Amino acid sequence: MEEAKLVSHFRIPTIFSIGPINVYIINAEPLTLIDTGLQNAEAETALKAGLHSLGYSMKDIRRIFITHGDYDHSGLAVKISEVSGATIYVHEMEKLKMDGWNKFIARKADVLMAGGLPARVFEKVIAATQNRVGIAQPLSEYTPLSGGEILPFEDFELEVYYTPGHALGHLCFFLRKQGILFAGDTLLAHVTPNPQLEIDENARDGRFKTLKQYMDSLDLLEKLPVYKVFTGHGRPVFDIKKRIAEIKRHHSRRGKIIARVLADNAKPLSPYQLALELYKALDGYNNVLGVSEIWGHLDILQEAGVIEGWTEKGGHLFKTI
Ligand SMILES: [Zn+2]
Repeated sequence: MEEAKLVSHFRIPTIFSIGPINVYIINAEPLTLIDTGLQNAEAETALKAGLHSLGYSMKDIRRIFITHGDYDHSGLAVKISEVSGATIYVHEMEKLKMDGWNKFIARKADVLMAGGLPARVFEKVIAATQNRVGIAQPLSEYTPLSGGEILPFEDFELEVYYTPGHALGHLCFFLRKQGILFAGDTLLAHVTPNPQLEIDENARDGRFKTLKQYMDSLDLLEKLPVYKVFTGHGRPVFDIKKRIAEIKRHHSRRGKIIARVLADNAKPLSPYQLALELYKALDGYNNVLGVSEIWGHLDILQEAGVIEGWTEKGGHLFKTI
Protein backbone atom coordinates (compact mmCIF):
# COMPACT_ATOMS: atom_id res chain seq x y z
CA MET A 1 0.00 0.00 0.00
CA GLU A 2 1.26 3.43 -0.88
CA GLU A 3 2.12 5.76 2.02
CA ALA A 4 -0.54 8.42 1.37
CA LYS A 5 -3.26 5.80 1.57
CA LEU A 6 -1.74 3.92 4.46
CA VAL A 7 -1.70 6.91 6.81
CA SER A 8 -4.42 9.55 7.03
CA HIS A 9 -4.38 12.44 9.44
CA PHE A 10 -6.65 15.18 10.69
CA ARG A 11 -6.20 18.19 12.90
CA ILE A 12 -8.28 18.35 16.05
CA PRO A 13 -8.70 21.69 17.84
CA THR A 14 -7.37 21.98 21.43
CA ILE A 15 -7.71 24.58 24.19
CA PHE A 16 -3.92 24.84 24.52
CA SER A 17 -1.60 27.47 23.06
CA ILE A 18 0.18 24.83 20.96
CA GLY A 19 -2.90 24.79 18.69
CA PRO A 20 -4.55 21.80 17.01
CA ILE A 21 -3.23 18.29 17.50
CA ASN A 22 -2.61 15.86 14.64
CA VAL A 23 -4.22 12.47 15.02
CA TYR A 24 -3.38 9.65 12.62
CA ILE A 25 -5.27 6.69 11.22
CA ILE A 26 -3.32 3.70 9.95
CA ASN A 27 -5.65 2.39 7.25
CA ALA A 28 -4.93 -1.30 7.73
CA GLU A 29 -6.20 -4.26 9.69
CA PRO A 30 -6.60 -3.79 12.62
CA LEU A 31 -7.73 -0.17 12.12
CA THR A 32 -5.50 1.93 14.37
CA LEU A 33 -5.73 5.48 15.70
CA ILE A 34 -2.66 7.30 17.00
CA ASP A 35 -3.59 9.97 19.59
CA THR A 36 -7.12 11.23 20.06
CA GLY A 37 -7.78 14.90 20.88
CA LEU A 38 -9.33 16.24 24.08
CA GLN A 39 -12.47 14.85 25.61
CA ASN A 40 -14.77 17.72 24.66
CA ALA A 41 -17.56 18.20 22.13
CA GLU A 42 -15.47 20.23 19.66
CA ALA A 43 -12.72 17.61 19.49
CA GLU A 44 -15.16 14.73 19.27
CA THR A 45 -16.99 16.39 16.38
CA ALA A 46 -13.70 16.96 14.54
CA LEU A 47 -12.61 13.36 15.08
CA LYS A 48 -15.94 11.99 13.91
CA ALA A 49 -15.83 14.21 10.81
CA GLY A 50 -12.29 13.07 10.04
CA LEU A 51 -13.22 9.41 10.39
CA HIS A 52 -16.35 9.94 8.31
CA SER A 53 -14.29 11.48 5.49
CA LEU A 54 -12.37 8.18 5.32
CA GLY A 55 -15.53 6.09 5.37
CA TYR A 56 -15.14 5.05 9.02
CA SER A 57 -16.95 5.72 12.25
CA MET A 58 -15.65 5.61 15.82
CA LYS A 59 -16.82 2.06 16.34
CA ASP A 60 -14.52 0.79 13.55
CA ILE A 61 -11.36 1.63 15.54
CA ARG A 62 -9.68 -1.46 16.94
CA ARG A 63 -6.53 -0.05 18.57
CA ILE A 64 -5.62 3.33 20.04
CA PHE A 65 -1.91 4.08 20.43
CA ILE A 66 -1.18 7.01 22.74
CA THR A 67 2.14 8.83 22.33
CA HIS A 68 1.78 10.39 25.80
CA GLY A 69 -0.85 11.26 28.34
CA ASP A 70 -1.17 15.03 27.76
CA TYR A 71 -4.91 15.45 27.28
CA ASP A 72 -4.82 16.77 23.73
CA HIS A 73 -3.20 13.43 22.85
CA SER A 74 -5.19 11.11 25.08
CA GLY A 75 -8.42 12.75 26.28
CA LEU A 76 -10.88 10.87 24.06
CA ALA A 77 -9.21 7.46 24.37
CA VAL A 78 -11.55 6.00 26.98
CA LYS A 79 -14.65 7.32 25.20
CA ILE A 80 -13.56 5.85 21.83
CA SER A 81 -12.72 2.57 23.52
CA GLU A 82 -16.16 2.44 25.18
CA VAL A 83 -17.87 2.99 21.81
CA SER A 84 -15.68 0.65 19.74
CA GLY A 85 -14.14 -1.85 22.14
CA ALA A 86 -10.72 -0.68 20.91
CA THR A 87 -7.70 -1.54 23.05
CA ILE A 88 -5.80 1.45 24.44
CA TYR A 89 -2.00 1.15 24.34
CA VAL A 90 -0.04 3.61 26.48
CA HIS A 91 3.09 3.74 28.60
CA GLU A 92 2.41 2.95 32.25
CA MET A 93 4.15 6.15 33.38
CA GLU A 94 1.39 8.24 31.76
CA LYS A 95 -1.40 6.62 33.75
CA LEU A 96 -1.19 9.00 36.70
CA LYS A 97 -1.61 12.00 34.41
CA MET A 98 -4.50 10.41 32.54
CA ASP A 99 -6.22 9.52 35.80
CA GLY A 100 -6.71 13.16 36.67
CA TRP A 101 -4.99 16.52 36.44
CA ASN A 102 -5.48 17.77 40.03
CA LYS A 103 -3.63 14.89 41.64
CA PHE A 104 -0.94 14.91 38.97
CA ILE A 105 -0.09 18.60 39.37
CA ALA A 106 -0.48 18.64 43.19
CA ARG A 107 2.22 15.96 43.45
CA LYS A 108 4.72 18.38 41.92
CA ALA A 109 4.15 21.17 44.49
CA ASP A 110 6.96 20.37 46.94
CA VAL A 111 9.61 19.84 44.27
CA LEU A 112 8.62 23.01 42.39
CA MET A 113 8.80 25.00 45.62
CA ALA A 114 12.21 23.52 46.42
CA GLY A 115 13.13 24.88 42.96
CA GLY A 116 12.17 28.36 44.19
CA LEU A 117 8.57 28.62 42.96
CA PRO A 118 6.66 30.61 45.61
CA ALA A 119 3.53 28.97 47.09
CA ARG A 120 1.34 31.88 45.95
CA VAL A 121 2.55 31.38 42.36
CA PHE A 122 1.83 27.66 42.57
CA GLU A 123 -1.74 28.53 43.65
CA LYS A 124 -2.05 30.60 40.46
CA VAL A 125 -0.81 27.62 38.44
CA ILE A 126 -3.55 25.49 39.99
CA ALA A 127 -6.17 28.15 39.19
CA ALA A 128 -4.92 28.59 35.62
CA THR A 129 -4.99 24.85 34.88
CA GLN A 130 -8.44 24.08 36.26
CA ASN A 131 -9.66 23.96 32.65
CA ARG A 132 -7.74 20.67 32.30
CA VAL A 133 -10.16 18.91 34.61
CA GLY A 134 -12.80 17.01 32.67
CA ILE A 135 -11.04 16.99 29.30
CA ALA A 136 -9.97 13.36 29.74
CA GLN A 137 -11.48 10.30 31.41
CA PRO A 138 -9.54 8.19 33.90
CA LEU A 139 -7.92 5.21 32.29
CA SER A 140 -9.44 1.91 33.38
CA GLU A 141 -8.43 -0.90 31.04
CA TYR A 142 -5.36 -0.55 28.87
CA THR A 143 -2.38 -2.45 27.54
CA PRO A 144 0.88 -1.03 28.90
CA LEU A 145 3.79 -0.46 26.51
CA SER A 146 7.35 0.28 27.57
CA GLY A 147 9.24 0.44 24.26
CA GLY A 148 10.75 -2.43 22.31
CA GLU A 149 7.41 -4.00 21.41
CA ILE A 150 6.56 -4.91 17.83
CA LEU A 151 2.86 -4.53 17.06
CA PRO A 152 1.68 -6.46 14.01
CA PHE A 153 -0.61 -5.34 11.21
CA GLU A 154 -1.75 -7.70 8.48
CA ASP A 155 1.39 -7.41 6.33
CA PHE A 156 3.75 -5.08 8.17
CA GLU A 157 4.78 -4.16 11.70
CA LEU A 158 4.94 -1.13 13.92
CA GLU A 159 7.86 -0.74 16.33
CA VAL A 160 7.49 1.01 19.68
CA TYR A 161 10.27 3.31 20.98
CA TYR A 162 10.46 4.73 24.48
CA THR A 163 11.37 8.42 24.16
CA PRO A 164 11.00 10.18 27.53
CA GLY A 165 11.81 13.86 27.94
CA HIS A 166 8.68 15.85 27.19
CA ALA A 167 6.64 13.27 29.10
CA LEU A 168 7.89 10.50 31.35
CA GLY A 169 6.10 7.82 29.35
CA HIS A 170 6.42 9.27 25.85
CA LEU A 171 6.39 6.72 23.04
CA CYS A 172 7.19 7.02 19.34
CA PHE A 173 5.82 4.54 16.82
CA PHE A 174 7.83 3.52 13.76
CA LEU A 175 6.74 1.81 10.55
CA ARG A 176 10.18 0.57 9.49
CA LYS A 177 9.05 -0.81 6.14
CA GLN A 178 7.60 2.56 5.14
CA GLY A 179 10.14 4.73 7.02
CA ILE A 180 7.34 6.54 8.83
CA LEU A 181 7.86 7.75 12.39
CA PHE A 182 4.95 8.95 14.53
CA ALA A 183 6.84 11.21 16.90
CA GLY A 184 4.11 12.73 19.09
CA ASP A 185 5.67 15.78 20.75
CA THR A 186 9.23 14.44 20.79
CA LEU A 187 9.93 16.00 17.40
CA LEU A 188 8.03 19.03 16.12
CA ALA A 189 8.90 21.13 13.09
CA HIS A 190 8.24 24.52 14.64
CA VAL A 191 8.98 24.39 18.39
CA THR A 192 11.08 22.45 20.88
CA PRO A 193 9.03 20.47 23.40
CA ASN A 194 9.30 21.39 27.07
CA PRO A 195 11.15 18.89 29.30
CA GLN A 196 8.30 18.94 31.82
CA LEU A 197 9.25 18.44 35.46
CA GLU A 198 8.36 14.92 36.60
CA ILE A 199 8.51 13.45 40.10
CA ASP A 200 11.13 10.80 40.86
CA GLU A 201 10.78 9.66 44.43
CA ASN A 202 14.18 7.97 44.27
CA ALA A 203 16.12 11.07 43.17
CA ARG A 204 17.89 13.32 45.66
CA ASP A 205 16.04 16.39 44.37
CA GLY A 206 12.80 14.47 43.80
CA ARG A 207 12.75 14.82 40.02
CA PHE A 208 13.82 13.12 36.81
CA LYS A 209 16.50 14.78 34.68
CA THR A 210 14.03 15.29 31.86
CA LEU A 211 16.12 17.40 29.46
CA LYS A 212 18.89 14.80 29.64
CA GLN A 213 16.27 12.11 28.97
CA TYR A 214 15.05 14.13 26.00
CA MET A 215 18.54 14.48 24.50
CA ASP A 216 19.03 10.71 24.84
CA SER A 217 15.68 10.18 23.09
CA LEU A 218 16.87 12.34 20.18
CA ASP A 219 20.03 10.20 19.95
CA LEU A 220 17.83 7.11 19.74
CA LEU A 221 15.54 8.51 17.02
CA GLU A 222 18.47 9.84 15.01
CA LYS A 223 19.60 6.26 14.33
CA LEU A 224 16.33 5.15 12.74
CA PRO A 225 16.00 5.01 8.94
CA VAL A 226 13.23 7.62 8.81
CA TYR A 227 11.79 8.97 5.57
CA LYS A 228 9.03 11.09 7.10
CA VAL A 229 8.12 12.19 10.62
CA PHE A 230 4.45 12.66 11.43
CA THR A 231 4.42 15.13 14.33
CA GLY A 232 1.97 15.70 17.18
CA HIS A 233 1.39 19.30 16.10
CA GLY A 234 2.09 21.24 12.93
CA ARG A 235 3.65 20.04 9.71
CA PRO A 236 5.64 16.84 9.17
CA VAL A 237 9.43 16.73 9.26
CA PHE A 238 11.25 15.23 6.28
CA ASP A 239 14.89 15.63 7.27
CA ILE A 240 15.01 14.14 10.75
CA LYS A 241 18.79 14.47 11.10
CA LYS A 242 18.68 18.17 10.22
CA ARG A 243 15.81 18.84 12.65
CA ILE A 244 17.53 16.97 15.48
CA ALA A 245 20.73 18.93 14.84
CA GLU A 246 18.74 22.19 15.01
CA ILE A 247 17.14 21.18 18.33
CA LYS A 248 20.52 20.18 19.78
CA ARG A 249 22.01 23.53 18.69
CA HIS A 250 19.06 25.36 20.24
CA HIS A 251 19.55 23.63 23.60
CA SER A 252 23.28 24.13 23.55
CA ARG A 253 22.74 27.88 23.01
CA ARG A 254 20.14 28.00 25.81
CA GLY A 255 22.56 26.23 28.15
CA LYS A 256 25.27 28.81 27.41
CA ILE A 257 22.85 31.68 28.07
CA ILE A 258 21.84 30.18 31.42
CA ALA A 259 25.48 29.67 32.41
CA ARG A 260 26.18 33.30 31.52
CA VAL A 261 23.26 34.61 33.61
CA LEU A 262 24.59 32.62 36.56
CA ALA A 263 28.12 33.93 35.98
CA ASP A 264 26.84 37.54 35.80
CA ASN A 265 24.99 37.24 39.11
CA ALA A 266 26.79 37.94 42.34
CA LYS A 267 24.44 35.63 44.26
CA PRO A 268 23.50 32.00 43.59
CA LEU A 269 20.08 31.54 42.00
CA SER A 270 17.26 29.01 42.21
CA PRO A 271 15.78 27.47 39.03
CA TYR A 272 12.73 29.74 39.42
CA GLN A 273 14.86 32.90 39.88
CA LEU A 274 16.78 31.95 36.74
CA ALA A 275 13.51 31.41 34.86
CA LEU A 276 12.42 34.93 35.82
CA GLU A 277 15.79 36.35 34.71
CA LEU A 278 15.36 34.69 31.31
CA TYR A 279 11.65 35.04 30.67
CA LYS A 280 11.08 38.29 32.67
CA ALA A 281 7.41 37.42 33.28
CA LEU A 282 5.67 34.05 33.54
CA ASP A 283 1.95 33.43 33.83
CA GLY A 284 -0.07 30.38 34.89
CA TYR A 285 1.35 27.03 33.80
CA ASN A 286 4.26 28.78 32.09
CA ASN A 287 5.77 29.06 35.58
CA VAL A 288 6.03 25.27 35.68
CA LEU A 289 7.32 25.07 32.10
CA GLY A 290 9.91 27.78 32.81
CA VAL A 291 11.25 26.04 35.93
CA SER A 292 11.21 22.70 34.09
CA GLU A 293 13.30 23.97 31.19
CA ILE A 294 15.83 25.85 33.31
CA TRP A 295 16.29 22.98 35.78
CA GLY A 296 16.80 20.62 32.85
CA HIS A 297 19.65 22.80 31.60
CA LEU A 298 21.11 23.09 35.10
CA ASP A 299 21.37 19.27 35.24
CA ILE A 300 23.39 19.26 32.03
CA LEU A 301 25.60 22.21 33.02
CA GLN A 302 26.25 20.64 36.40
CA GLU A 303 27.23 17.35 34.85
CA ALA A 304 29.56 19.22 32.47
CA GLY A 305 31.27 20.78 35.51
CA VAL A 306 30.33 24.36 34.49
CA ILE A 307 28.17 25.09 37.53
CA GLU A 308 27.62 23.73 41.01
CA GLY A 309 24.41 23.24 42.93
CA TRP A 310 23.53 22.64 46.57
CA THR A 311 20.58 22.67 48.95
CA GLU A 312 20.02 25.43 51.48
CA LYS A 313 16.98 25.57 53.79
CA GLY A 314 15.23 23.04 51.59
CA GLY A 315 15.79 25.05 48.39
CA HIS A 316 18.12 24.31 45.45
CA LEU A 317 20.67 26.97 44.49
CA PHE A 318 23.18 27.12 41.65
CA LYS A 319 26.24 29.17 40.72
CA THR A 320 29.06 28.96 38.20
CA ILE A 321 32.32 27.32 39.24
ZN1 LIG B 1 1.07 17.88 22.37
